[in-house]
Amino acid sequence: MAPGNKQHKLKYHLEKALIEGVRYIATFGGPYSNHIDAFVKRTVELGLQPIVVVRGEVQPSLTDTLRTAVCNGAILYPCSRQDYKRGLDSDVKRQVDSDFNTIYWIPEGGSGPLGVKGCQDWAEGILNNNGSGGEPWDMVCLASGTGTTAAGFLSSSNVSQLAVFSALKGTKNLELDIRSQALVDTSGKHLLTFDECYHGGFGKFSPELFAFLCDVYSLNPTLKLDPVYTGKMLYQVQQLITDGRWPYRRTLFIHTGGLQGWRGVAKHHWPFDSIDY
Ligand SMILES: *Cc1c(COP(=O)(O)O)cnc(C)c1O
Repeated sequence: MAPGNKQHKLKYHLEKALIEGVRYIATFGGPYSNHIDAFVKRTVELGLQPIVVVRGEVQPSLTDTLRTAVCNGAILYPCSRQDYKRGLDSDVKRQVDSDFNTIYWIPEGGSGPLGVKGCQDWAEGILNNNGSGGEPWDMVCLASGTGTTAAGFLSSSNVSQLAVFSALKGTKNLELDIRSQALVDTSGKHLLTFDECYHGGFGKFSPELFAFLCDVYSLNPTLKLDPVYTGKMLYQVQQLITDGRWPYRRTLFIHTGGLQGWRGVAKHHWPFDSIDY
């Protein structure tokens, strides 16, 4: 199983890999990546051999995310940050291609039109069934990294207003980024974008965030949020409400998963005793 948005981003890529009949399937990811976690679980379930190009040196004591990947049968390739940036053009990709024959490659995070399409389906499913008591939502909120998931939601005929909360600090052109990945013309749709301006940037944590997540969990013991994406999104909306800058009454938050990301955080900061992911 691979909960969260990554399985939706992977859906059509995996379908294509199976149609092509490959045995090897490869992708890129960071050492704490939710994408790697979902990618390895899903590909192994389908009988494929996963190969993962890991950003930065691979430490001999693997992160929990990478250890799980190896235990599930993944082959890891370390990659310098510089080469990693070149993605499907990198030297390491050429190396992997020469070590194995016929590999299906998935871009980092499962992005690209196939990833967007899987998220569009997901959005259709969520927004078909769940009105807010039959009334339309005033705003749909979604956390983002590459913007692929947001592009899928914005491409759904059921979404006409979307607020996107980037997990990255100082994102420029996020709106354009998302609109340009969309599968349909989104110019008539209302898209709000925010960057991560409270906790120091991607994967960074603050005492305020931890305190907030403990409060949220104690008030909602059935709701576990992740520390990198959904937790920060809720924190930011809470700030907007406090500042009087959130005029929307019926707000829908999309839970994109990512609980395994807590494995990159010291346990004494966890709001809960355990995570199921
Ligand atoms: C990867 C991820 C996102 C961001 O998805 P993008 O399609 O890259 O924008 C959001 N939330 C969680 C939990 C994720 O793991």
